[in-house]
Amino acid sequence: MDFEIRYTADQANFRKEVAAWLGDNCPPEVINSEWIHTPPAIYERQRELGRKLGAKGWLYPVAPTEYGGGGLDTDSARVIIEELGKLGLNLPPYYDSGGVLGSMAILVWGTEEQKQKFLPPIYKGEVRTWQLLTEPSAGSDLAGVSTSAVRDGDEYVITGQKIYIGSDNGAEGFWTIARTGDPKDRHKNLSWFWIGKGTPGLSWQPMRLLGDQDKNTVFLDDVRVPAIALVGGENNGWKVASTHLELEHGFRTDIGSTLNEHKTLDRLIKHCQETVIDGERLIDRPGIRDQLVRLHTHAEVARVWGMRNFWMASQRKQSYEGSQSSYASKTHRMAMTRLIAELAGPAGMMRNGPAPAAEGELALVAEGAIGSSHGGGTVDIQRVVMSRRLGIGRAEGQSGAKLA
Ligand SMILES: Cc1cc2nc3c(=O)[nH]c(=O)nc-3n(C[C@H](O)[C@H](O)[C@H](O)COP(=O)(O)OP(=O)(O)OC[C@H]3O[C@@H](n4cnc5c(N)ncnc54)[C@H](O)[C@@H]3O)c2cc1C
Repeated sequence: MDFEIRYTADQANFRKEVAAWLGDNCPPEVINSEWIHTPPAIYERQRELGRKLGAKGWLYPVAPTEYGGGGLDTDSARVIIEELGKLGLNLPPYYDSGGVLGSMAILVWGTEEQKQKFLPPIYKGEVRTWQLLTEPSAGSDLAGVSTSAVRDGDEYVITGQKIYIGSDNGAEGFWTIARTGDPKDRHKNLSWFWIGKGTPGLSWQPMRLLGDQDKNTVFLDDVRVPAIALVGGENNGWKVASTHLELEHGFRTDIGSTLNEHKTLDRLIKHCQETVIDGERLIDRPGIRDQLVRLHTHAEVARVWGMRNFWMASQRKQSYEGSQSSYASKTHRMAMTRLIAELAGPAGMMRNGPAPAAEGELALVAEGAIGSSHGGGTVDIQRVVMSRRLGIGRAEGQSGAKLA
């Protein structure tokens, strides 16, 4: 039996069209450009490419055309993502967690007026959005947020603090969750809001995490938003958040990260091929080969599950698979980190200094793995979600989030 993915003649032609278009439209300085510490001039060029992709419907290819998306099928979207991948780029070609995750929640929970207002700027690449969820004392326990939103006439006034947010180079739109009801009414006292560009009272302070992740502490000081910014109704924010988090927990509408799963492992394999210790290449040690093959299998599982979830998300099908895929990716990266530590010792954890292994690239992989095991729901939380969905956890929350 042959499981190889084959493309139809139409898809092969579409690939040629995408490759040619990218050849004409992707600025050379954007090719292989970084997602972290992106110099502002490069970031502007990434955004420019995003707007051009948006104008063609290729920035959010599977999103509905009536709101500015591409209305394409998942195979066509995959072709776009693969062609961008050849240029070292993801889709979108810059960090846009609020767009990738938040737009789905609006499709599900927004009124027609909200969809018309909020979605086209996201799908066209005119705004980049951060998600303001985590607080200093509410991470895994997101239902425990204490940021408050108080109705005042036709507005809500939002006050609080969020942490580990976004990226470098700022954003123009923000999704947030805040408490609107009685603290005792857990899960039924939260609301979901959009905060637009330049809203007074919102500010941020950069924080740099392990793995060079650019994050921010965000301060909300009497931030006033119009009533239309409330999505899904007052005190219904937990359900809106559940849709958003379902995607973040691995039920992605982008598969860029999934397709990257092998890249970091390839770097580790190269290190083992190039490094000679006591006259022997690391790759020639049977124990190391054994571990690399195991990691390759993990990477492949994570890649295939990611692709499955990409398709499932576009079909609005769901069970425990989002968290399963997230769990597989996170644990795979942590296993890679353990092997790096074993193979290269302290040099594997150095990015510069006297003798970094593989010019510091392994340390970056290791640090990134530790960070990503936490971001978007920790490994433990993926296990909790899976067990509930499989019916081996407590009853509440077993049915999952609304996706359509
Ligand atoms: C790289 C990165 C990017 C991020 N980006 C964003 C962002 O853009 N926006 C945003 O809002 N947030 C973001 N976060 C925050 C992230 O969502 C939180 O760090 C995460 O949800 C965990 O919350 P916490 O850090 O408060 O840890 P805690 O919730 O305090 O957890 C501490 C430890 O306890 C464990 N634990 C907690 N509850 C349970 C449980 N019920 N069962 C078993 N174990 C449990 C956890 O697994 C963890 O090991 C980011 C974080 C990182 C590291």
